[in-house]
Amino acid sequence: NALNFSAGPGALPSTVLAQTREAIIAVPETGVSVLGMSHRSEWFVSIVEEAERNIRALLGLSDRYSVSFLQGGSSLLFATIPMNFATPAFAPPAYVNSGYWSSRASAEASRVGPSTVVWDGQSVGFRELPTLEHLDVDRRAAYLHYVSNETIEGLQFRLPTQDPAVPLIADMSSDFLSRPLATERFAMIYAHAQKNLGPAGVTVSVIDRELLGRIPGNLPRILDFRTQIEHHSNYNTPPVFAIYVLTLITRWLLNDIGGLAAMQKVNETKSSRLYRQLDEMQDVVKIHAARAWRSQMNVAFTFGDARLDRAFTEAAAEHGIIGLDGHRSVGGLRASLYNAVTPEAVELLCATLSEFALQRA
Ligand code: PLP
Repeated sequence: NALNFSAGPGALPSTVLAQTREAIIAVPETGVSVLGMSHRSEWFVSIVEEAERNIRALLGLSDRYSVSFLQGGSSLLFATIPMNFATPAFAPPAYVNSGYWSSRASAEASRVGPSTVVWDGQSVGFRELPTLEHLDVDRRAAYLHYVSNETIEGLQFRLPTQDPAVPLIADMSSDFLSRPLATERFAMIYAHAQKNLGPAGVTVSVIDRELLGRIPGNLPRILDFRTQIEHHSNYNTPPVFAIYVLTLITRWLLNDIGGLAAMQKVNETKSSRLYRQLDEMQDVVKIHAARAWRSQMNVAFTFGDARLDRAFTEAAAEHGIIGLDGHRSVGGLRASLYNAVTPEAVELLCATLSEFALQRA
C-alpha cells in the first residue's frame, strides 16, 4: 500500500482497513454487507451506541456532554453553531481568525448575524497563533470559537489551561482524538471525519447540554442540535458506513493503541522526528509555522520553489509516499501525520528528504 501523508482523506490504520474490507462483503456477526445495512437495524443502533461509548471513554466525557454524529461536515457547523447559540440574549460571538478554516468559520457566522473577530493572524501571514487565555473577549459574548489545528497552515493551539470566561467552541477537525483533552473546559467540540476518524460523511459533535437551553425554537429541525441528540443520531438516514469505520477506529484507539495519552506519545515521536529532519535542512527548506505553533498533525513546508517542491513529490512517489501537495492557498508541501501514519512511514519520509537534499547540494 502507498504511504499516505495526505491532509484528507487521511491514512487508515491497517487493521481497520482489513476489517473494513471484510465488512464491505459481510459484517462478521451478521452476514450482511455494511453497505446494505439498514440504519434501523439493531446492529446499527448498537454501533452508534458503541461509537458514543468509545468516544466518551477516550475523552473521559461526563454526562454533562451530549455526543452526536452529524452530516454536512464542519462547514455546515460553521453556519449552525451561530444559528443555535448566538442568540440576542448574548453579545455577538467572538472568533479567532488563525488561518484558512477559522476564517471560513467566522465569515459564515457573519452571514448568520453579528460576530466579532478578536484576533486575526493575517498580519503575521498565518504563521503564529495567540494564547487563548490572553485574548480580549467580551464576557457577555455568546461564545468564543477557534480552530484548534489549522490544517492548511500547519499551526496548532496549545490546550486551554484555565476555565474560559465564555463558552469555548473548538473545531478539532484535524486533531480530534490525537491527544488527551481537559474536555470540561469546552462548551462544544466538533470534528469531521476523513482525517483521524475515517472516511468523510460523519461529523462528531460534543456539546455541553447546558448550551442546548439557548437554542431558538424556530430553527428547521435538521439544523437544531437537539434533534439528532434526541434521536440518537438517527433522525434521518445516517451515514452508516462512515459511522461504522469511525467505530472501528475508536476500538483501535482503545484496544490497540491504549488510549489518547499513548496516541499522543506516538504523535509526538513522529512530529518531532520530521521537524528535526526539516530543521537540519533549514538552508534549503522553510517551515510555514513559527516554531512555537508547529502542528503535530500537519507539517507545511517548502523548498522555496514550485519546481523543487514538485521534484520532491516525484522523488517521494518513487518510495510509495503520496499526498504531499500543499493546499492551493499556501502552496508548497504538506505532510500530514494523522494518527494512522506510522513512525516507520515518517522515517522513510525523513530518509527521502535527506537523500533529496544531498542530491541537490
Ligand atoms: N475545519 C478544518 C480544521 C478542516 O481541516 C476542514 C477541512 O479540511 C474543515 C473545517 C471543513 O470541513 P468539511 O469539508 O467537512 O466541511
